[in-house]
Amino acid sequence: MGRIAYVNGRFVPHGEAFVHIEDRGYQFADAVYEVWAVFDGRLADAEGHFARLERSLAELGIVMPMSRAALTLVLKETLRRNRIREGLLYLQVSRGVAPRDHAFPAEGVRPAVIVTASRVDRAAAEARAARGVGVVTTPENRWGRCDIKTVGLLPNVLAKQKAREAGAVEAWFVDELGLVTEGASSNAWIVDGDGVLRTRDTNANILRGVTRLSLMEVIREAGLKVEERPFTPEEARSAREAFITGAGTIVLPVVSVDGKPVGDGSPGPVASRLRRLYIERAKARSV
Ligand code: PLP
Repeated sequence: MGRIAYVNGRFVPHGEAFVHIEDRGYQFADAVYEVWAVFDGRLADAEGHFARLERSLAELGIVMPMSRAALTLVLKETLRRNRIREGLLYLQVSRGVAPRDHAFPAEGVRPAVIVTASRVDRAAAEARAARGVGVVTTPENRWGRCDIKTVGLLPNVLAKQKAREAGAVEAWFVDELGLVTEGASSNAWIVDGDGVLRTRDTNANILRGVTRLSLMEVIREAGLKVEERPFTPEEARSAREAFITGAGTIVLPVVSVDGKPVGDGSPGPVASRLRRLYIERAKARSV
């Protein structure tokens, strides 16, 4: 069965799903997006992703294209038409289509909405989590509003490519103070020598990861200590464990940083346990 996409009110075969050449998302990256993990055909952390979507849109002055209820129906229908039980759901909202001009178009231009869904092989994902992944570091070179989830991802694209060429899975941005900000598509964490979980605070120029926020609750429920405190790549290498979080990666152990091992070079017990607890919680609350 072929894939189906939602494009501005219509469900169309993937190969026939097009946007206008003057879509502002295409020309200016004037668009935001969200990605939900899908477990058992339902959306994980739905509320957190909707809240961040609304915030990203508001920060850019783009109107919410439809109510949350209507959007939920569209998202679910996209899953149904693609028969996806385990996967990822991608939503993109651009400011709309208008003659090319940097400033916003006149009132009345409607946001353009696309939704796509893709399948995830959970067994392969679990196998990868059991092996762990490598990350490389790269100088932070993004704009000052990484809290807005825009499709302007060129630095992230280049960082990911650098990771891939090094045989790694993720790239960690490192700021001018030598501190890790976050990954190209994930938040960065360590378990330090005292057993404390550490991740960058959201006053820094990072995306407020929805998985990150949910995991904080999981960590507290598990009786572990968490601090929003930055770390250097060197601290990550000498930490007990390191891992990344995101809708796509869930909780994924990091076993090397710039080719040098973290701890003994294998996934640690804390990240593995948190991955299991996060998935259990997400499943219990998914909609
Ligand atoms: N940081 C960046 C730059 C991202 O692109 C993402 C996800 O795509 C994340 C963090 C993790 O966010 P979330 O947990 O909401 O998926």
